[in-house]
Amino acid sequence: MTDDEQAELYTSAVTLAQNHPARFTDEDEGIAAAALTESGLTLLGVSIDAMVTSACLCAETGPICEAHRTGDRIIASICVRWTESDGPMVLAACGVCQERLVMFGRDVMIGLPADDSRQFRFVPLADLRPSPWWDAWN
Ligand SMILES: [Zn+2]
Repeated sequence: MTDDEQAELYTSAVTLAQNHPARFTDEDEGIAAAALTESGLTLLGVSIDAMVTSACLCAETGPICEAHRTGDRIIASICVRWTESDGPMVLAACGVCQERLVMFGRDVMIGLPADDSRQFRFVPLADLRPSPWWDAWN
C-alpha cells in the first residue's frame, strides 16, 4: 500500500465523516470508514446510530458487507471521527471489526491514530489481533 493510497483512504473517510453527521447524537459528530480492496475500489461506510446502543453498527460494517457481496478482498481500512470543534480523529478498528476484517487476511492494513491523534499510520491487522478467535477453527 503506497503512501498516496493511505492518504487517499484517510481523506475519503474524513470527507464522508464531515458530510454525514450521526443522527442521534447531540453533537455534529460524524464517523466514517474507508476500505481499499484488492481490485482497487474504495468502499465507504458510516456508523449507524440507534436508540439502543447494542443495535449501533461501526462504520466499517458497510464496506465489510460490500466486500463480501462482491467477493473482493479488503486490503486496508481506516475509520475517522469528525466534529466541528475537534476536526478529524482516527479511530482504531474495534475488536468486533478486527474479527470481521481478519476474514480478509491478517495482512489487512488498519489505520491507527499517530502520536498526535490528528495524523494516522497503518499497521497489519496481525499486530492488533495476534490471536483472532477465528484461529480456533483453523
Ligand atoms: Zn467496530
